[in-house]
Amino acid sequence: MYSKILILRFPKTVVRNPIVCGLTRDYDLIFNILNATVLPRKEGVMVLELTGTRKNFRDGVNYLKSHGVHVQNAAREIKRNNRKCTDCGACTAVCPTGALAVQRPEMKVVFDQKKCSVCELCVPACPPRAMEIRPMSQTFFA
Ligand code: SF4
Ligand code: SF4
Repeated sequence: MYSKILILRFPKTVVRNPIVCGLTRDYDLIFNILNATVLPRKEGVMVLELTGTRKNFRDGVNYLKSHGVHVQNAAREIKRNNRKCTDCGACTAVCPTGALAVQRPEMKVVFDQKKCSVCELCVPACPPRAMEIRPMSQTFFA
């Protein structure tokens, strides 16, 4: 069995279609959704673990791509460079999952990586560029 965590980005034209269900129905793959978010511009981001035979995995990824889904290996993560962070709070306004939030009464901005969907909206929103994308592998599917 082959298993990988993937980041799927759904354009707003297909975000409401039950595309992911086809992975089980047509490709005998097991999926476990770890995080799912609809972004402000209506695109969807989903982090899921996909398990099956290598061939079915490959065919399933091609199926997703044929439906306009951008598929990326989740071996990318968002980290905060705490030395750069000024607790300005700008990132909390764009984070759709609550991974970045203001802790009161200290008014410190806390980052809970477990809630992060790797949507990357915080990266350009952070004035000192404290939110960083760290690729753990260079394997991309799209
Ligand atoms: S990438 Fe940034 S904005 Fe997106 S969920 Fe993670 S912390 Fe929030
Ligand atoms: S926008 Fe950047 S500097 Fe401001 S709180 Fe968020 S991570 Fe820190």
